Amino acid sequence: MTDSCLCLGIDFGDCHVTAGVCSDAALFGKDILLPVQTHSCNVAVVDADCNLPDTDAVITRTPGLRIGVRTADCVPLLLYAPDIAAVAAIHAGWKGSLGGIADRTLELLDGLGANLSLLRAAFGPCICGSCYEVSHELTDEFRAAGFSDCLVGERNVDLEAVNIRRLLRAGVRRENIKPKSCCTLETPAFPSWRRNCDSRRLLSWIMLSQ
Ligand SMILES: [Zn+2]
Repeated sequence: MTDSCLCLGIDFGDCHVTAGVCSDAALFGKDILLPVQTHSCNVAVVDADCNLPDTDAVITRTPGLRIGVRTADCVPLLLYAPDIAAVAAIHAGWKGSLGGIADRTLELLDGLGANLSLLRAAFGPCICGSCYEVSHELTDEFRAAGFSDCLVGERNVDLEAVNIRRLLRAGVRRENIKPKSCCTLETPAFPSWRRNCDSRRLLSWIMLSQ
């Protein structure tokens, strides 16, 4: 964490968990488990630092093990299950949002015994629906998957809204979902691939307190 890296905390309102975002993952340091993201819907449950190829979401119940994901317009989603003391970090671009990586992560947390009505969720900065124009073919795919109300006009998709819909469908309570603080494309402090093919990556992380 250096002066040239904007780092902000995300408050889950619980002293047992800390979370945050940093504007440049490369400057954050090595004290974090980051999967090798491939826009898959693969989720790993880990209890220690390890290599995670072809993985786009991580769950852990190990206190002090910081987990995170890297994005530049894609959706970073952080979860905290207070009843089983578990946290998750999810990377959901259009592929993961359409394919349901959030659902897969919630299924695994449910399998670990989490009551999803207690789950807390927070989104890191990502591109907003007004800025995220895609092809007609892709809007058709989201429409066919039941996300018509997450489209903005004819050509735009609100990926955060898609993931919020998935959380609500799984039983997460709306009041336990914290939306993103800003749009990456509209906020120069944060990396945006759409804005300038930014080589930086936003880091979104979460950790159970020790
Ligand atoms: Zn925007």
